[in-house]
Amino acid sequence: MSQLLITQPSTRKAIGSWNVFSASKLIQLYECPLAFYFRYFLHQEIIRTPAMVFGSALHQMFDQFFKKNFKSPKTFSNAWKNYWLGICSGRFGDHGRKSKPVLISFRDDAEKGSLLGFGINITQRFYEQNLIYRETPYHPQTEVSFHVPFRDYILRGSIDRIQKIQGLESEPDEIWDYKPRIPGLPNLRNDVQLTIYDHAYRFMFRKVPRGLRIYSYKTGEFSDLVWPRKEKYFDELELWLKEAHAYIFGVLFWRQYNYLPNGFQLKDFGYFSRSDVEKGVFSPRYFPNSNHCKFCSFYKECEERRNGLAPKIMADELLVGRLTEEKITGRLGPARKKASARARALSKVEINLFPEEAATFEDLNSFVAKQVQ
Ligand code: SF4
Repeated sequence: MSQLLITQPSTRKAIGSWNVFSASKLIQLYECPLAFYFRYFLHQEIIRTPAMVFGSALHQMFDQFFKKNFKSPKTFSNAWKNYWLGICSGRFGDHGRKSKPVLISFRDDAEKGSLLGFGINITQRFYEQNLIYRETPYHPQTEVSFHVPFRDYILRGSIDRIQKIQGLESEPDEIWDYKPRIPGLPNLRNDVQLTIYDHAYRFMFRKVPRGLRIYSYKTGEFSDLVWPRKEKYFDELELWLKEAHAYIFGVLFWRQYNYLPNGFQLKDFGYFSRSDVEKGVFSPRYFPNSNHCKFCSFYKECEERRNGLAPKIMADELLVGRLTEEKITGRLGPARKKASARARALSKVEINLFPEEAATFEDLNSFVAKQVQ
């Protein structure tokens, strides 16, 4: 039997959150269901690429810029230097000095050094461009976490920056997202992550944002302002979520209950494979030798499955793990319960939160059984 058999306690949490989506979770599922399974169900330890860690470390620095009073571009870039060297030496991770160290696939020490230098230039430029925004009334809100209802789902994530614009103080804020580079306008208009941020902003602040904008930390440029999303984008997001939710649920439970949530039918699958649901597997999206796969963090695990070194039916693999885990962990964690309760109270609408509330495997099964009676 493969080493991939579930042992991590976090599996129960993953099973209980299949109607809760962040942008990255949703995108990962649509990109490759098998990679999604490794990441969100098995919680395989990811060896992160230098570019990923570099980007999220810079996000931390940009957040700190507005929280600490750095005196000059030099003091800010020195702080970057210490932070980056600490990450590279394994003292802490890329989500702050209290975060867990991460495994990074550096080619060699020269790559660490060149990213260090690159980061020095970026942080110095960021300091100069953003000094004005440290002053009131332009001081932004940064790393704004959200956990908000959206129709039958819960959306969660963190908005990089909510920014008031100089000279337009009476207008609503703009939503800013930091990315390495600015995507083309058509991509920006359809970006699902920005649609999620737009909804989260409206929900939290009870108003429509002025618009959405990308800041490229590689070039120091800003994108054009993209207008707030129209209703059709939210309808589209709902369709994506609905199929994703039905697919995850279906892979886990279809063989047992012949039931899919939210009125979804087997024939409705348009993007995902209906046979995955019938067989109980999250199938790979790409050919293993494709360019996309070359950069996949789960290449080795994927290969093991292809070679028959792991259980074929993931639903069984997970449920076996869940039973074991229930014995270890008992009930749902208090933090998660609190977050769910808060989201429901804020929305004042009925939300299908049953997986969040299912404290044990037996509760979950009996809930599903009631649905199909
Ligand atoms: S190697 Fe390719 S097919 Fe396999 S999990 Fe990764 S992206 Fe999916």
